Amino acid sequence: MHELSMAQGIINAVLETAETNNATEVTEVTIEVGRLAMINPEQLQFILGVLIENTIMEDAKVNFEEIPAEIECHDCDFQGEAVLDDSDHYAPLVKCPKCDSLSVEVLNGKDIVVKNIVIEKPDDT
Ligand SMILES: [Zn+2]
Repeated sequence: MHELSMAQGIINAVLETAETNNATEVTEVTIEVGRLAMINPEQLQFILGVLIENTIMEDAKVNFEEIPAEIECHDCDFQGEAVLDDSDHYAPLVKCPKCDSLSVEVLNGKDIVVKNIVIEKPDDT
């Protein structure tokens, strides 16, 4: 399952950062989810919730921020937010909003990125 490996990757990245910083607890995580990352955010959130049990990020508040799909059109040189055909959530069609062309290059919105984590350290008083 796509979401499972995504979730595992996110958790590994967070825990690695937490460890490097000698964290005792992760309190908050912000994850940027590209509009074209082809994942189901609810499903991702659910799997994350299961996988973080018994880790130091068990009680972390997980925030999701959606990143819009940005494209460059090969036909009319439009650059900006794309029109998405959402009928199939997992493989949306990306279209140029200006000329309806499907010949576009995706500039942004394909990735899932851990944007920010908030940790607690033993020394924090
Ligand atoms: Zn166009």
